[in-house]
Amino acid sequence: MSATQTVLQRNADLSEQLGERTFTITPDLKALVLTCADHRVDPAHVLGLDLGEAVVLRNPGGRVTPALVQNLAVLAVVAAVEGLEPGFELIVMHHTDCGITRLDTPDYAPMVASYFGIEEDAVASKHLSDPTEAVRADLEALRSNPLMPPTLVASGIVYDIETGLVEVVCPPQPLGAARQP
Ligand SMILES: [Zn+2]
Repeated sequence: MSATQTVLQRNADLSEQLGERTFTITPDLKALVLTCADHRVDPAHVLGLDLGEAVVLRNPGGRVTPALVQNLAVLAVVAAVEGLEPGFELIVMHHTDCGITRLDTPDYAPMVASYFGIEEDAVASKHLSDPTEAVRADLEALRSNPLMPPTLVASGIVYDIETGLVEVVCPPQPLGAARQP
């Protein structure tokens, strides 16, 4: 059976289970999770997110890149068009043993620099091999981006593939708040 056939069967099962259940365009937790594309860190599983609870954006590493900022800007406009109230919380989740650590060599610096929209000599500031520092770097990237509303509450966490536990690196606070020591 192909992967597509497998998921189509599962979808048919889901549709039956949902029955008449309906969902609004506002996620129940008013949360947006940014995390890695890695199959081991699906927030529906590791954060226990149920259907309809959170918007999830995923990319290699779960990183704040120019493309990710553009994604957030489009979502903010969708929310505004829909008339949703502000007050969303952004959760940035990185993880141990991330595939992006394999790119932390000079050979891949040009590609990594392009991914982040930075110069090659600044690639080290993205801490590809250290998820804790990478979360801090990404929250700083959000704070320093003039497109990000200072009222947006954001947090940074790291998921440990070995233990299944999450560690809080940056507790939730508005981007415009004073930085944690
Ligand atoms: Zn990853």
